[in-house]
Amino acid sequence: MPRPRAVLLDIDGTLTDGIGGPAFPGAVDALQRIARRVPFRYVTNCTSWSRAMLASGLAREGFPLPEGALVTPTVLAERVLVARGDDSGVLIAEPATLADLGWYRVTAPASARSVLLASEAHELTIAELQPAVEALLAGARLYTLQQNRVFRRHGRLVTDLGPLAAFLGYAASVGWENLGKPSPLLFDALAQDAGCAPAELALIGDDAEFDAAGALRGGCGAGVLVRTGKYRAGDEEKVQPRPTLVADDVAAALAQLLRPDA
Ligand SMILES: [Mg+2]
Repeated sequence: MPRPRAVLLDIDGTLTDGIGGPAFPGAVDALQRIARRVPFRYVTNCTSWSRAMLASGLAREGFPLPEGALVTPTVLAERVLVARGDDSGVLIAEPATLADLGWYRVTAPASARSVLLASEAHELTIAELQPAVEALLAGARLYTLQQNRVFRRHGRLVTDLGPLAAFLGYAASVGWENLGKPSPLLFDALAQDAGCAPAELALIGDDAEFDAAGALRGGCGAGVLVRTGKYRAGDEEKVQPRPTLVADDVAAALAQLLRPDA
């Protein structure tokens, strides 16, 4: 495994125990050490917190936070949708993240360029999703901030954005584009920012499917799985391609990836 030119770090379950939760032992030290040696980005699929809330959580724990280091799916969404003229239409979002979506113009379904799925919508009824279906049937494109299947909340696994993207896509017989991990759109943009090729990126995360295998399928050179957060014994055997490396925690993963002889 060649030494990466830039490192992408998942947050929840990799650096901290839960979003906004305490840092895992050794994680802050490890980040402070690598921050001086290699470009890095925090890359999260979290859609229930705004960037400002996420940033203050990381800063409070002592993680280094240079300008631009925190990348959420809304960052890529703005870049891609504005460039394509798809930055207006039907928006499904949580109040907490509207601060990051001010660039998106809400329209009637008939004139929508897109449907932007930014929430798992647990509070919405099926009836409240009809404008999105109408917009898609009228030709709008479907984008989702991420397509995770489930996430852990209050100790239970509950549906994430992926099942809702599938619901809307099925209703209107359309596919969707994912703007979160492991979208190649995301890895291409991050590689461009780092001045390297996607194959020179390494991603470290606790989700075998969406972080480790997803990074490799999305074009990254390394997908590293950590045995913290949502990791369960044997996760690495259930995905293809297999993770480049499985490490006990983020400190061990960084030590291996950036060892002097790599
Ligand atoms: Mg995670």
